Amino acid sequence: MVGVESVDVGGVPVSWYCASCSSELGADDAAPDGFMGQPAARCPHCGAEDLAWEPWAGEIADGVYYPHDENGLRTISTPRDGEPWG
Ligand SMILES: [Zn+2]
Repeated sequence: MVGVESVDVGGVPVSWYCASCSSELGADDAAPDGFMGQPAARCPHCGAEDLAWEPWAGEIADGVYYPHDENGLRTISTPRDGEPWG
C-alpha cells in the first residue's frame, strides 16, 4: 500500500474513509485500475468492510479543511485538520 491523500479518478481527487468509525484512510496510488485507489479491503482501525470514498475537494481556511459537497458548497459541519494527510 502506498498511502496518499487522494488519487485522481477521471479528474476528480478521491479519498477514502471508514463509514463505521469515520477514520480517514486516504487512498492507495498503487491500487489496480478500477478500484479508485481503495486503500484496503477492511478498515485498519476497526476492521469494518464498510469503506466509502468521497470527492476530495474543498478549501483550507485558518488551518481547517472544509470538504465541499457535490455542489461545491462547504460542508461546514465536518471541518477537518488542514494539515496534509499522511
Ligand atoms: Zn473503521
